[in-house]
Amino acid sequence: MYYQSTRGHPESRRFCEILLEGLAPDGGLYLPTHYPQLDTTALTRLRSIWQQQGYAALAFEILSLYIDDIPATDLRAICERTYTEAIFGTPQITPLKALEPGLYLQALSNGPTLAFKDMAMQLLGHLFEYELDRRKQQLNILGATSGDTGSAAEYAMRGKHGVRVFMLSPQGRMSPFQQAQMFSLQDANIHNIAIDGVFDDCQDMVKAVSNDLEFKRRYQIGTVNSINWARLLAQVVYYIAGYFQATENNSQRVSFAVPSGNFGNVCAGHVARMMGLPIDQLVVATNENNVLDEFFRTGCYRARSSADTFETSSPSMDISKASNFERFVFDFLGRDAAALQDLFGVQLPTRGRFDLSQHSAWPQLRARYGFVSGSSTHADRLATIRDTWQRFGQMIDTHTADGLKVARHYCQAGVPMLVLETALPIKFAATIVEALGREPERPAKFEGIEDLPKRVLCLPADVAQVKTHIMQQCG
Ligand SMILES: *Cc1c(COP(=O)(O)O)cnc(C)c1O
Repeated sequence: MYYQSTRGHPESRRFCEILLEGLAPDGGLYLPTHYPQLDTTALTRLRSIWQQQGYAALAFEILSLYIDDIPATDLRAICERTYTEAIFGTPQITPLKALEPGLYLQALSNGPTLAFKDMAMQLLGHLFEYELDRRKQQLNILGATSGDTGSAAEYAMRGKHGVRVFMLSPQGRMSPFQQAQMFSLQDANIHNIAIDGVFDDCQDMVKAVSNDLEFKRRYQIGTVNSINWARLLAQVVYYIAGYFQATENNSQRVSFAVPSGNFGNVCAGHVARMMGLPIDQLVVATNENNVLDEFFRTGCYRARSSADTFETSSPSMDISKASNFERFVFDFLGRDAAALQDLFGVQLPTRGRFDLSQHSAWPQLRARYGFVSGSSTHADRLATIRDTWQRFGQMIDTHTADGLKVARHYCQAGVPMLVLETALPIKFAATIVEALGREPERPAKFEGIEDLPKRVLCLPADVAQVKTHIMQQCG
C-alpha cells in the first residue's frame, strides 16, 4: 500500500515512512492511493473474527489492509498489546449501550485518559516504539494541548523507549481533573510545561520550534497531532466493531453521530464508509464553533480566527479550522490534487474561505458520502445531559451530549443510530454539576488524583526557553 499527498506531491510513501512524519512536503495530508473494499464475503469473515477473537484481532485485520511494511506477526502482537481489557476496561473495548430502541452510545472513552483519543494514541505509542527501535532512532514529541490530546499522548508514550514527550499547556486553563491527569505522571520521559498564556500561544510556540529546521533535525522533533494517518486508521476499527454490535447481518445499515472538532474522528467514519461498511448517515455534530456544520449545510468553508473561536463547555471541539477536513475534500472532488492545492494552499490562506456550493459534486454530498450535520449550544448540552440522566440513568459528557442532540434530529426508523461517546463526564465535571446538581461518577483508579504530587515546569511564552529546556533534557 502506498500513500500520496492530497496536494499532489509526486512521491508516494509506505506506511512506516509517514508514521513518524507530519504533513507531506507540499503541506498536504497523506491518504492511501485507494481504499481496500469490504464486500459481503469480507464483512462476513470479519464479523466472525470479531465475534470469536475480539477487538484486537479485528484491528489486526483492518490495519494489515493498509500496512505492509511491518511483518504480520509483529503487527498482530502490537494490536494484542494495545487493545486489552486491562487498558480499555471491557472485553468488547468499545461496547454499545442502548438508550432506547435503535439509539445507542458507543463507548470510546474507557481508556487510560477517559477520552476517545486513547483509541488511536495507545496504538501509536506501540507503533512508534516499534519503528524507532527498528531504526535505532530517538524522537522528541513536542505538542500543545488544551486537554485531551496531551494527556492521551502522554499516557501512550510513558515509559516507551526512544520517545520523549514535551507537552505545552496553557497555565490554569485545563479542568482540574485534566491537569491532575497529566501533571501527576512521574515517568522520566514525560515533560509537562505549563505556559503563561493561552492555547494559541502554546500552538504558536510548537510551530516556531518546528519551523527552525536545524533545531528540528538536530533534536529529532516530531508530533502526534490529529493529522497523523495512523491515528485515523486506528479509529476506522471501532466503526466496524460498532456496526457488528448493532446489526445481525451485513445487509443492515447503521448511522453514526460524531462529536466533531478537527474532523479526525468522523474522517475515520468516512474512510470506513468508503471501504464499503454499510453506513447510512455520518452525522457531524459541532458545538458553537460550527465551521463544519456551516460547510455541510451551505458548501462554504469559512475558517475562523482564534479571536472568533468561542470557549465552550465542550472545549475539545473548540477549533477555528478542521485540520483533517482536507482529506474528505480530496475524495469529494474526485482526488483532484490541483483543486486541493488551490483550495487549501491558496484560497484558504489568502481569503480564509472557499465555497463548493456551485461545484458539480455538491448535490451528491448526502447520497454519495452520507454526510449531514448540526450544531449544539451550551443550553442544548445541559438539556441533553439532564434528559439522558433522568430518562435512562446514563450520565454523559458535554461532547457526547452535542453528538446525541444532533443525532436525534436524524434518527430514522429501522436504521440504528450510534452516537460516539468521546469522553467520560468526570473530565468536565463543572458542566455536569451545572446540569445535574451533582458530581459525576469517578472511575476508581482516578480517586484522589488531584492530591498526587505534580511534575510540571512553568515557563513564560518564550520559544527560546522552551528550546533550552528541550536541549537540557536531551543531554
Ligand atoms: C478531540 C475530541 C473531540 C473532537 O474530535 P475530532 O477528531 O477533533 O473531531 C470530541 N470530543 C472529545 C472528548 C475530544 O477529546
